[in-house]
Amino acid sequence: MQQRNEVLGKEAELYDKLPNGRIKCTACARLCEIPEGKTGLCGIRGVVNNRLQLFVYGKVIAGHIDPIEKKPVTHYRPGTDIFSIATTGCNWLCKYCQNYDISQRRKIQGVDMTPKEVVDSAISYGAHGIAYTYNEPSIFIEFARDCGIEAHKKGIFNIFVSNGYVTQESVSMMSKFLDCITVDFKGSGKQEFVRRYIGIPNADPIFQSLKDIRDKTSIHTEITDLIVPEVGDDLEAARKLCKFVYDELGPDTPIHFLRFHPDYKMMEFGMTPIEILEKHHGIAKEVGLRYAYIGNVPGHPLEHTYCPACKYIAVQRYGFSIESWNLDANNCCKNCGYPISIIGKPNKQHGKNRFQLIQ
Ligand code: SF4
Ligand SMILES: [Zn+2]
Repeated sequence: MQQRNEVLGKEAELYDKLPNGRIKCTACARLCEIPEGKTGLCGIRGVVNNRLQLFVYGKVIAGHIDPIEKKPVTHYRPGTDIFSIATTGCNWLCKYCQNYDISQRRKIQGVDMTPKEVVDSAISYGAHGIAYTYNEPSIFIEFARDCGIEAHKKGIFNIFVSNGYVTQESVSMMSKFLDCITVDFKGSGKQEFVRRYIGIPNADPIFQSLKDIRDKTSIHTEITDLIVPEVGDDLEAARKLCKFVYDELGPDTPIHFLRFHPDYKMMEFGMTPIEILEKHHGIAKEVGLRYAYIGNVPGHPLEHTYCPACKYIAVQRYGFSIESWNLDANNCCKNCGYPISIIGKPNKQHGKNRFQLIQ
């Protein structure tokens, strides 16, 4: 394993020096206060010689090409291919994590890649964007920022798949390079759920970060909510989340209710019953959200985008594929002319191996 400098990685930027000699990391809402020689909870930011070091700078543990719909993102650059990367470590401790081998690994491992090499890889795979995903990207935000700035030079866009448990400092850094974020709630952010199954005191910082992203950036935002059967499927919590999205982010903000699959330390749980997901979807519509989706249920009719005005299927999907695109040149409903809040449109170069564009 190659070491770039004497100390692994690169000095972080988001931190403060405290009078008690500790370092306070400000990349995520844990705000770890770290003594010399130790790391924060994520395991990949630590104090060396009275400085905070991002040990995984330039260490890529996973790289895949995925459709953007898999993030899930459905209202930004639909049909594009995304180069998804991650480092080790995470600021959450989700007991059901599907990527736990990466996220809960407290080791500094991965393939050495400079930001330019990340972008060159994305281009060589024909990707249109880079997603920082699989673990929480704010913990390696300085590396993501450098990749993202390099990506913009080449016309590649940047997406965070984030738990949103971030800070004003990280939102400010996001504004320099990020085009899109999908913020993943789990169990609708209900306190009992996030305490027990994620290991955070409450979801308040996520709601605050969404307001900061709204106020201080122009990042396209989508919301997901993983619905865990019995322990994370509270309809009142879902209503509270939907009301927040409606009031603070606006009725055009897409929301995705995702089906849970058992994994990691929660193998005894079943998959979320589809009726429960449909109830959550119903609440989003009652609250007034125009674009609500069910995810991880391929073939379900609530994967499609329906025109809010005439209920025509504006975009028909199957899983992560677009089956038909029924919007005009201005992304208005072909049936009634209502403007659908989708940025970009698929073209013949996008995802050409994954779907046939029907125009
Ligand atoms: S990014 Fe890591 S070190 Fe920094 S506050 Fe979050 S968990 Fe702690
Ligand atoms: Zn219409």
